[in-house]
Amino acid sequence: MTDGVWNGLDELGPRLADLYRDLHRHPELSLQEHRTAGLLADGLRPLGFEVTEQVGGTGVVGVLRNGDGPVVMLRADIDALPVAERTGLPYASTERATDADGQEVPVMHACGHDMHATCLLGAATLLAGATTAWAGTLLVVFQPAEELARGARDMVEDGLFERFPKPDIVLGQHVGPLPAGFIGHAAGPVMAASDSARVVLHGRGGHGSRPESTVDPVLMAAHVVTRLQGIVAREVPPAEAAVVTVGRLRAGTKDNIIPDTAELGVNVRSYTPRVRDRVRAAVERVVRAEAAAQAAPRPPEIDWTHGMPLLVSDPEATAATVAAFAAHFGAERLLPMPPVSASEDVGVFGEAAGVPTVFWFWGGLDADTTFAALAAGQLDTLPGNHSAHFAPVVEPTLGTGVQTLVVAALAWLTTTTADA
Ligand code: ZN
Ligand code: ZN
Repeated sequence: MTDGVWNGLDELGPRLADLYRDLHRHPELSLQEHRTAGLLADGLRPLGFEVTEQVGGTGVVGVLRNGDGPVVMLRADIDALPVAERTGLPYASTERATDADGQEVPVMHACGHDMHATCLLGAATLLAGATTAWAGTLLVVFQPAEELARGARDMVEDGLFERFPKPDIVLGQHVGPLPAGFIGHAAGPVMAASDSARVVLHGRGGHGSRPESTVDPVLMAAHVVTRLQGIVAREVPPAEAAVVTVGRLRAGTKDNIIPDTAELGVNVRSYTPRVRDRVRAAVERVVRAEAAAQAAPRPPEIDWTHGMPLLVSDPEATAATVAAFAAHFGAERLLPMPPVSASEDVGVFGEAAGVPTVFWFWGGLDADTTFAALAAGQLDTLPGNHSAHFAPVVEPTLGTGVQTLVVAALAWLTTTTADA
């Protein structure tokens, strides 16, 4: 019924590949995506979208009204990471930028958001070129600052769902270390909730030769780190999952000086509100108890700073979308997946609008290499998201990522019998 939608795909492919390589070569850090946003807005305008820039900072919103019908939101994130690219590709990034702390850092699209943005512009192009095949409203959202867990929230707080049509469904995707041409799907909790805490342990500093006159926050921190690893092992039911990581630990200036304080960065991943609450409470309990055990002069500070909600792909809506993928790509191109322990802020949109979200993954790695690694039980040796070596093969990743968005959108828009 909607075959006409695909008419432009072959001609579109090389143009999208050029845009992808351009974005890859010129990545921009979270909240600095000015050039990227400009290119995407310029790409949407000639297609007939009403385009608004600077929504929630550097976000771009496109609206295409095409008669009565549902409002379908397609979302892509657009920011890059402070990583020095080591892919060796001819279009590898050599960019550097100044981060929020004033440090100069390398910049790389190490999470594939350049691929997300390009595929969404491609899907917008095909759907705008086939308006007789569907009815409804297309809401295209290019979201900044996903890597800071704030871009989605910033766009919602800037009136995304008051200034633009409120969607009936939110659709999004992430490229990852699966074979290119394949789609990974799961329903229910698909990506973990993430919570970060900054912990400051207070001791009493002094000379390293006279520990009896001090309260050593380094020893306190060491006990906290070890003890925190008992939470998942002893307090989370074996059939449930959580991760506790201390990724940052800072104390002291010199080997013979006992410092006044030690600072820890703690990150918690979880898949249910119950486990999340329990693990967070346990982190606080352990930190307070270790401070008390050592007679700290002041209680510790625990600030939960950085949260990503659990991402739930609505089971019913996901089943309908996956059925549409199976009809289009063939069931053999679909890979059922367990939930992943990484996090995403796309769920903020569906939650704020009070509508279901459907989120899936698609492959970006050379399929032969990936299946060989899988057969050898060495899948973990392949570069994944956030690696300096992560770069999707351009095709079939690009073509697949365009088609998944179009197929998913058409599963929700009112499709008509007249071909474009
Ligand atoms: Zn990422
Ligand atoms: Zn990402």
